[in-house]
Amino acid sequence: MSLRCYGARQFECRPPKTAILWAPTAAFITACSIPFISGTYATVYTIVNVMLTALTLATAIQHWPGSGKKTLSRWGLIGVHILLAASFAVRAGQGLLAAQEFGRGLPDDLLLAIHLIVALFFLTASGALSLSLAYEKNATRLFHLATRDALTGLLTRRALEDKVREIAALGEFRPYAVLIFDLDHFKQVNDLYGHAAGDATLKACADIFTEVLGKKQIIARWGGEEFIAIVETNSPVEAHALAERSRMRIKKASIVYLHHRINLSVSIGICHSTRCDSDFKEMLLKADSALYKAKAKGRNRTEAAAA
Ligand code: GH3
Ligand code: MG
Ligand code: MG
Repeated sequence: MSLRCYGARQFECRPPKTAILWAPTAAFITACSIPFISGTYATVYTIVNVMLTALTLATAIQHWPGSGKKTLSRWGLIGVHILLAASFAVRAGQGLLAAQEFGRGLPDDLLLAIHLIVALFFLTASGALSLSLAYEKNATRLFHLATRDALTGLLTRRALEDKVREIAALGEFRPYAVLIFDLDHFKQVNDLYGHAAGDATLKACADIFTEVLGKKQIIARWGGEEFIAIVETNSPVEAHALAERSRMRIKKASIVYLHHRINLSVSIGICHSTRCDSDFKEMLLKADSALYKAKAKGRNRTEAAAA
């Protein structure tokens, strides 16, 4: 069970703890070297079952979902571990409460039969669920790689287009605004501080957009130094206010890369629609013309177009 707990920890990419491998065995040997404990079969039996309960629960805890680990199989895996731990706990209780009836053999009763069935079920179910969890984990990772921009962690252009198609097909769009952000004179950041500084700046700007607009909004890196957000709102005023807040945050941000302080601004084009069925591509074109206007008017500004 120590090995299983250690393996579960590694599988979940948690930092390794070698103590899990040797500490339970060391504790058991130490306990058994005390005559008071090793003298009776029931105490040894209780200790073994208490330790197995603890290790099984510890294994269940290793599988407990952290952020982004909401795969279904893990709940099954946690469930069968808790079931087995409960079964070990019952055996430990038996060791404590019915010690005098043990003699020098295993208590051969209904509880033993139940325990063996639980152990058999655990072996089969935990094997299948572990495989399923590994599959789900890989599928989630591949999905993330396919839909997220590697540098900024935002949606890719294709993922945003897929999402828009999906929402439109389900008829779930509420009135929304399309916001296009284009960093001003970004080429100069690369020219002055190098490409790596440019990359760090793009990541910092993406984080600012996510912070201002909220993690629940659809935000994508459209390409190069351009970003797109779809903001669900009835109010063009609110969409404009969000764009302005983003613009001001970028303007105020002083992005530090190595010993450089990088200041920049962003131009934003918006198109807001009060209808639910507005065509995304049309809105995008209009937002793009608004962005063009913002650039032409001197950059670092927000321009809106009517849908
Ligand atoms: P404007 O204000 O007109 O938008 O000027 P700009 O310099 O921002 O626009 P331009 O289209 O001339 O240049 C965009 C630059 O963005 C050029 C390209 O090197 C840089 N860029 C695009 N993708 C990346 C990237 O992933 N990393 C880095 N570091 N730079 C990138
Ligand atoms: Mg551009
Ligand atoms: Mg630009």
